[in-house]
Amino acid sequence: MRILIAGFQHETNTFAPTPTRYDDFVRGGAFPAMAHGADVLAMRDVNIPIGGFIRAMLGHELIPVLWAGATPAAHVEEDAFERIAGPIIAAARDRDFDAIYLDLHGAMVCRHDDDGEGRLLAALRAVVGPRIPIVASLDLHANVTAKMLQTADALVAYRTYPHEDMAEAGERAAGLLNILMQRGEKLAQAARRLPFLIPINGMCTLVEPARGVYHALAGAEQMDNLHMSFAPGFPAADFSECGGVVWGYGADAAKITGAIDALAGGIVAREGAWVVPLLAPQDAVRQAMRIAATASRPVVIADTQDNPGGGGDSNTTGMLRALVECGAEGAALGLMVDPDAAAAAHQAGAGGDITIALGGQSGGDAPLSATFRVEQLSDGRCIYGGPMMHGKQTDVGPTARLSLGGVQVVVSSHKDQMLDRNLYRMAGVEPERMKILVNKSSVHFRADFQPIAEAVLVAKAPGPLLADPADFPWQHLAKGMRLRPLGPAFTGQPPNSTT
Ligand SMILES: [Zn+2]
Repeated sequence: MRILIAGFQHETNTFAPTPTRYDDFVRGGAFPAMAHGADVLAMRDVNIPIGGFIRAMLGHELIPVLWAGATPAAHVEEDAFERIAGPIIAAARDRDFDAIYLDLHGAMVCRHDDDGEGRLLAALRAVVGPRIPIVASLDLHANVTAKMLQTADALVAYRTYPHEDMAEAGERAAGLLNILMQRGEKLAQAARRLPFLIPINGMCTLVEPARGVYHALAGAEQMDNLHMSFAPGFPAADFSECGGVVWGYGADAAKITGAIDALAGGIVAREGAWVVPLLAPQDAVRQAMRIAATASRPVVIADTQDNPGGGGDSNTTGMLRALVECGAEGAALGLMVDPDAAAAAHQAGAGGDITIALGGQSGGDAPLSATFRVEQLSDGRCIYGGPMMHGKQTDVGPTARLSLGGVQVVVSSHKDQMLDRNLYRMAGVEPERMKILVNKSSVHFRADFQPIAEAVLVAKAPGPLLADPADFPWQHLAKGMRLRPLGPAFTGQPPNSTT
């Protein structure tokens, strides 16, 4: 088999402050940097879908075009989309191959098209015609659209959040492509859309109800030789197909339809189980202090709304303010992105004091002005040691550990989600020894922090990734969609509008 392979990943928070440009894909950020041609094959050892696909298909001739992913932020600019999709579509037109595999996210919203992946898949389908199989892997946070389901022969999504099975999703896509090639014809498809938005923090597969849904999914698949996926969606993309979808493929149309109906029906029947308890910043800190008073392990608070993995700039100060105001001791917060503060700390040197206005550059927030002690400096480079992206090298630029009262803040120059304990250690914080850790992350941190945590709390401090989807000023959602589990339905007007 000759297989054209490419990757184009973006999770678009249409409410976030910063658009996504071509250069963001060149750099990659939370993803590897953009790769072209044969360089894509070097990604075989990275825990991303195309890595798993390449390893699973080593016996075949792979024709790599490019791979590009950017840190989540607002709309992908038209120029960025066309410069990345263009070469993939051109290769599909000019090269000779038997199938296409794409490593996609599934929640890309472009400036000129709400459905980035649907646009790319439809363009490829128009070029290759109906007979060449097109298979894609998707993130668990995909907002799967009708166009994506119509134009791809098969879509498969991750099953874990934290995403520990990214490469496995690529392997599953490879398995499904092999089945399609052997059959020589399409499989029957079924899909059901959920009637309510699920909060990001409620999607974690380490806990119920998501854990049970994926367990049931795997069981149903095995029993009837089906291929099923559940993407609970990315509830920060303001377009009509935002939300969760259950879908799948099988040789027997009645069986796959029945299995998809049963799985979707089970999710909807337990709608209340998807509600997430969210705490105000001071309530979260006070609760953490109470638990920590008798615990030997840290209490971890997710500063979820400023998660840079969901469009946050990672510089809001609401949680830091709450820690200081509540007099928390033995607390650490990371990463606070403020290149000017990091530079001031490096200029002052370890042991010095700096009077600065820290963070708070994003809208809806204010900096915290105080005199901080510079405890330790770092070049901001470390290698992840946790399970999610073990071995990944990161470089967040000049970094410093500042202290204010009993609170340590790891201040970096560039964004990175606090999903690995080594991001604390590089600045001299031993996370296991702290009483309270405040992580700018929603769920991914749980892979490395839950094993050392006495408890995990979720706080609603300033940031663009609103934890309660009902808080967003929706305008384009499907009418009737409930804005959170058991919440109000979207009427066509922004939820809190007075008109
Ligand atoms: Zn995701």
